[in-house]
Amino acid sequence: MKAYLLHGALDIRAEERPDPEPMPGMVVVEPRFTGICGSDLHYFRHGYCGKFVPKRPFALGHEFSGVIRSIGSGVTGLTPGDEVAIDPSMPCGTCGHCRTGRYNLCADMRYFGSASCDPHLDGSMARLVAAPARNCHRLPPGIGLAEASLLEPLSVAMHAVRQCGQPAGKRILITGGGPIGQLILRVLRAFGALDITVSDPDPFARQFALQSGADRILDPTAPDAWSTIAPFDICFEAAGSPVALSNAILATNRGATVVLVGTLPEEVSLPANLIMNRELNLRGSFRFANVFEEAMHLVAAGIIRLDGLVTHVHPFDEIPQAMELANARQNVMKIQIAS
Ligand SMILES: [Zn+2]
Ligand SMILES: [Zn+2]
Repeated sequence: MKAYLLHGALDIRAEERPDPEPMPGMVVVEPRFTGICGSDLHYFRHGYCGKFVPKRPFALGHEFSGVIRSIGSGVTGLTPGDEVAIDPSMPCGTCGHCRTGRYNLCADMRYFGSASCDPHLDGSMARLVAAPARNCHRLPPGIGLAEASLLEPLSVAMHAVRQCGQPAGKRILITGGGPIGQLILRVLRAFGALDITVSDPDPFARQFALQSGADRILDPTAPDAWSTIAPFDICFEAAGSPVALSNAILATNRGATVVLVGTLPEEVSLPANLIMNRELNLRGSFRFANVFEEAMHLVAAGIIRLDGLVTHVHPFDEIPQAMELANARQNVMKIQIAS
């Protein structure tokens, strides 16, 4: 089968690999849609992603949906031809975090298209992917394969929203209007937030947020941008920007919650005394747990809308060009690979 492998920074090439076989409890999926994620871009731009440094070429792609091609022994409830969404999380299942339901914190997590585990697990920028049957969720009526490839980032957004407690009736700030910020916005709308502001220096992201239902947009670099803004009960830092995190902390109400979902540099300076004297709750949010199927059903039921998020679709054989386009970040929200 053909697979696009990341060899290093700005270097993705097609290669032939052996077709995967369905082992017991596993299925082989033909990916149909793959979303390009911020972490894929980190790998593409730098050759690594944070602490995850690839030791050998591997295929990116963890936001994907597809069609079952074959099933291994012992698999029930799935048959070849089924359309499925794939939850890319493969935790160990036995450690303390796994046993208490916080499996996103599992130190032995394996994740599609990630160099976080060794051997690295090839993702969906390949013609075929072997996946555990339990990770494959047959699509209910109301959601198609293209939308299903957005369920991974939607799960990230829903997990982040869970960190803030009850958003209903609250005044909320989202710093960063990329796909995760926009999805957090849509989840908050569905869950009854009162008033949502999205800040982003990029006019395209701001305009997109207005169309996605933001009450207010903010250019954080404009003079006096923050001076007339009333304090927020909840802030989501989805930009991965130290300045954005500082702005979010400065803009909090007393007793507010700040959820960190963007990937920040290792060390940043913060208005730390405000965390103390406003009694702020700083919450981290990493990947997601126990939310993928719920996300799928909320989309299928029309409660969370994903329309418009995919701004560009490229065929499988244009994966390198699609990565370049994502890297350029010009009027791009989510780019999908269609196989
Ligand atoms: Zn992702
Ligand atoms: Zn574990």
